[in-house]
Amino acid sequence: MYICADCKKLHETLPEDYECDCGGVVDDASECKICGSHYYYYDGFGYCPECLDKHATFEAAVEIGNTHKETIKVNSLITHMYTEDEIEKILLNYARTHQDGEENAKTYCLYDIAYFSTYLDEKCK
Ligand SMILES: [Zn+2]
Ligand SMILES: [Zn+2]
Repeated sequence: MYICADCKKLHETLPEDYECDCGGVVDDASECKICGSHYYYYDGFGYCPECLDKHATFEAAVEIGNTHKETIKVNSLITHMYTEDEIEKILLNYARTHQDGEENAKTYCLYDIAYFSTYLDEKCK
């Protein structure tokens, strides 16, 4: 199956010069592992843009972030008062509700689609 990058029309066969009726470029279509829809092949490592978007949630970002811990310096009063887990919990609660938490989480997930798709592979097993 082939698909137009612009109008997303599906073509059974590859048109001459890879050109769609709309003037867009037609190339191999990939089938989404989640919803089964066809999409332009290099868009998402096995997942259509809609499914990538739908699964790029705050929870997914937290799970991915959990596997990529980073070290920061904080006021030692904070470490006197709270454990590392508590600090993380407090900050994640704050992140969810401030500074467009959901939107930032989406950007974070989709920043590296190759990586995010391997996360989804694990998730959707
Ligand atoms: Zn087209
Ligand atoms: Zn899909």
